[in-house]
Amino acid sequence: MAAVDVSYEEITGSSKNAYESDDLFQLIEHVGVRDLHFKHDPETGLKAIVAIHSIKSGSSLGGCRCIEYPSTRAAAIDAMRLARGMTYKSAISNTPYGGSKAVIMKPAEIRDRAAFFEAFARFVHELGGRYITAKDSGTTVADMDLVSTITPYVTSVSSKNGIDGDPSPFTAYGMLKGIEACVKYKLNRDSLDGLHVAIQGVGYVGYDLAKLLHARGVRLTVTDIDEKALRRCEEEFGAVIVHPNEIYSIACDIFAPCALGAILNDKTIPQLRAKIVAGSANNQLALERYGLALRDRGILYAPDFAINSGGLIQAVALYRNEKTDEIMANIDFIYHRLLEIFERADREGRATNKVAIDIAKEHTLAHEER
Ligand code: NAD
Repeated sequence: MAAVDVSYEEITGSSKNAYESDDLFQLIEHVGVRDLHFKHDPETGLKAIVAIHSIKSGSSLGGCRCIEYPSTRAAAIDAMRLARGMTYKSAISNTPYGGSKAVIMKPAEIRDRAAFFEAFARFVHELGGRYITAKDSGTTVADMDLVSTITPYVTSVSSKNGIDGDPSPFTAYGMLKGIEACVKYKLNRDSLDGLHVAIQGVGYVGYDLAKLLHARGVRLTVTDIDEKALRRCEEEFGAVIVHPNEIYSIACDIFAPCALGAILNDKTIPQLRAKIVAGSANNQLALERYGLALRDRGILYAPDFAINSGGLIQAVALYRNEKTDEIMANIDFIYHRLLEIFERADREGRATNKVAIDIAKEHTLAHEER
C-alpha cells in the first residue's frame, strides 16, 4: 500500500470535529474546495475523484494520481489537499488556470489499462473543461495519450510541439534553479560545486535532480525503498546510499525530499542537520506551523509549491502550444521567485511557506471565477 500523506489536523485546521463528524462537506469547507466529483465505472472498475479548488480562465489544471488508498475518504482528502496546492502553485507561477487534482484509487489489478483510462477520460470530458488532466504519480505519458483520444482536456501527451510530455525533467530543472537560489541566499554562493545534497526518493524527479546536481560537482547521499533506483544513482553518480530512516540526520548542505508528503514533522525536524530543505514532494510540511519550526532552527525552507512548479509550467505550455524557450525562461524565473520569498520572509520575520501562500493569494485570488 502506498503511503498517503493525509494529516487530518492539517486538513481540518485545529478542529477535531471535522474529522470525527465524518461530514464530507465540513472537510470540503475547511480545504476550500469548490467541486468534488466522484466517478465509478463498473465495467472497468475505475473509481476516480476530481477535486477542483479554484477556477481561472474557466478552467483548472492538475495531475492525475493513480495509487493505492486505504479508503475513499483518504483518496478524497488527498485530492482536495493536492488541488489546494495546485491553486497556490498555479498562482505563484502566474499560469492562467485554477488548481485541481484527480486521484484514481488503484485497484489490485487493472485488467485492461486502455479501457480503464478511456473511462477516466470520459469522466474528465463530462466535466466540460473545468478540469484539465495531466500525468502524475502512477500515470504515464502513454495513459495521457489514450485520454487525449477521448477528450481535449488533457496535457502531458507525447511529442506535441516538439516538447516531451513528461513533466518530471522540467520539475527537476526548476528544482535546480530553486536550489541555486537557496544556496545564494543561505550560503552566499553562486556555485553548487562541492556541496552535499541528501535526496529522499530517486524516482522520476529525484533521479533527474541527482543527475543535474552531479554534473555540477555536488556530492550526493540518497535513499529510496526501490533497490534498483538506488543502485542506478550509486553507479552513475557515485551516490552514497543510506537507509530511509537515516536520511533526515545526514550532515549535509541541502536535504531534498522528493518522495512523500508530510515528512517534515515533530519527529523529523529535530533530526535535520541540513542548512536548507528544498525538495519536489508536494505538501512536505505535515502542518503549516512546521514552516516556523524550520525557521526557528535556522533552516531555510523552499516552499514546495514554489520550487516544484517546473512541471506545471511545462504542462500548461504544452496544453497551450507555447514555445520551448518561453517554458525555460518561465522555469528559470523560479530562482527569482524564491529569492523574493526568502527576502520577504526575513523582512517580515515570518516562515517562508506562509509568505509563499500570501504571494500566491495576492497573484491569483483577485482573478478567481466560480
Ligand atoms: P516517483 O514515484 O517517480 O518517485 C518517488 C520515489 O520515492 C520512488 O522512487 C519511491 O520508491 C520513493 N519512495 C517512496 N517511499 C519512500 C520512502 N519511505 N523513503 C524513501 N523513498 C521512498 O515520483 P516523482 O514523479 O519523482 O515525484 C516525486 C515527488 O515530487 C512526489 O511527491 C510528487 O508528487 C512530487 N512532484 C512531482 C512532479 C513531477 O513532475 N513528477 C511535479 C511536482 C511535484
